Amino acid sequence: MEDKLQCIGCGAFIQTNNPDELGYTPTSALNKAQELDNDIYCQRCFRLRHYNEIAPVSLTDDDFLKILNKIRDSDALIVYVVDIFDFNGSVIPGLHRFVGDNEVLLVGNKEDLLPQSLNRRKLKDWLRQRANEQGIRPIDVALVSAKTNQSVDDLLVKVDKYRQGKDVYVVGVTNVGKSTLINQIIRQNTGIQELITTSKFPGTTLDQININLDDGSKIVDTPGIIHKEQMAHYLKGKDLKIVEPQKQIKPKVYQLNPEQTLFFAGVGRFDYVQGDKKYGFTVYVENNLLIHRTKLINADEFYDKHFGELLTPPDESYANDFPKLVRYEFKTTEKSDLVIEGLGWITVPENVVVAGWAPKGVSVLIRKSMI
Ligand code: GDP
Repeated sequence: MEDKLQCIGCGAFIQTNNPDELGYTPTSALNKAQELDNDIYCQRCFRLRHYNEIAPVSLTDDDFLKILNKIRDSDALIVYVVDIFDFNGSVIPGLHRFVGDNEVLLVGNKEDLLPQSLNRRKLKDWLRQRANEQGIRPIDVALVSAKTNQSVDDLLVKVDKYRQGKDVYVVGVTNVGKSTLINQIIRQNTGIQELITTSKFPGTTLDQININLDDGSKIVDTPGIIHKEQMAHYLKGKDLKIVEPQKQIKPKVYQLNPEQTLFFAGVGRFDYVQGDKKYGFTVYVENNLLIHRTKLINADEFYDKHFGELLTPPDESYANDFPKLVRYEFKTTEKSDLVIEGLGWITVPENVVVAGWAPKGVSVLIRKSMI
């Protein structure tokens, strides 16, 4: 009977045998919850709620594949949630192969982070184009903010319109805000708050959660797929808040001459390597992140000297273990964004050579400019 209980936080099946695996709950805690007829949280979710502390448990690629296969074999509407601020870090590799004949509704979350000046219709087109590049042809694109509840109503109307009585699968990589969104949906349906664990730490939704709909169909929240290249995996404690945008981003313009460098604390770097003149480079990163300008020629030395100290995050407690920055060079042929995944982007004019640096393991790429 014990194995039928599910954690109210992450949905994992409760077990009392193995502390390293999903759903572990000490027997004493389980008994107590049952005695008092309380909801049961696994130890991991309990700690997360009470101490804001996360114990890593891994979802294997095999488990993940099982989930995707299940989606392929069902007749459902797929709601594909991405983080607009970290679109490239939101991509589920190979998703198009698992979509089958199902329709995909693309949801760009964290709209609240983007500057007002950004034309929403263009942004939707931009998202659609990026999805097309992945082989996905969304039936529609919605922009929402799960955190502020902005446009979540509109999204639900769309979901209802496109699902045509079918089940709904919500998919997304970790940290795109899928749990926050599901929580909003549940709240609107039931009034129960914070039913699912959400947190600042990526990878906290572990097992499937079903939300029943009036007509007998359900909304299925699938586990967030861990995107190993996310910046968030390398940051600890409060540093995550300093790097991940918390509020609407205020773009900053830096007038740079060739051979000038910008450091983004110790977690990223941008070099204007070559170009015919001074340009204004617009930077979209968390408003409070330290940006330090230097000459390219002095940059390496500056980094060696100040990393983990002036250039923080990472703070000195783990700077030694933090991956070193790795350089990627690009020559632009059109107005582009140089993206440092999870950190943000810099808008770059055409016909220049630039370099982006990110901690080893985190991607740097160039894309058609969003704005
Ligand atoms: P999941 O791993 O996809 O389930 O992501 P969570 O729901 O746990 O959210 C990950 C992080 O993103 C948390 O720090 C959330 O507070 C934050 N977040 C989620 N939705 C939004 C949003 O709409 N706007 C902003 N600014 N942050 C969000």
